[in-house]
Amino acid sequence: MPWDEPLALRGHHLLCQFGYRGHGYSKAFTDNMTAVLTHLSQHGEHLVSLTDTPDILCRKFPADQPNHCHTPEVIHRDQAILDRLHLRPGQVIGWSELVERATQEFCSEDLLTLCSTCSWLPLGYCQQGLSAARLNQGSRPIPSVARGLEP
Ligand code: SF4
Repeated sequence: MPWDEPLALRGHHLLCQFGYRGHGYSKAFTDNMTAVLTHLSQHGEHLVSLTDTPDILCRKFPADQPNHCHTPEVIHRDQAILDRLHLRPGQVIGWSELVERATQEFCSEDLLTLCSTCSWLPLGYCQQGLSAARLNQGSRPIPSVARGLEP
């Protein structure tokens, strides 16, 4: 992982990080996502290069599972989330600022429309994580994985 360079992250992963509890599509996928989110939570100044295409998390999506990373629906989700944050693909911005902006802008009800087709939504992790972050606003929200939370 190029920890000394801006990390490419797509728009909707700014919301996924609120609910991440170490679960994912494969061990390689979750190992990578845990490493990325743990690094970012410990280095809030790390720059993120925003995108609406497959990013550093998608690159570990298992090849033997139906891939949704390139679908128009998921790309639209990225764009809708970046639009709400007044950001666009190609912008480079610090991780902590991104998390802070997302915490202020979105509430758990937003996920019902933005993420209506995501298979993870019914588990409730993302809505719970976002609500917890909003309650802790001002005290630097931390992704679930960095808090060591498990369902
Ligand atoms: S419901 Fe799916 S797309 Fe939405 S934040 Fe959660 S994991 Fe990400």
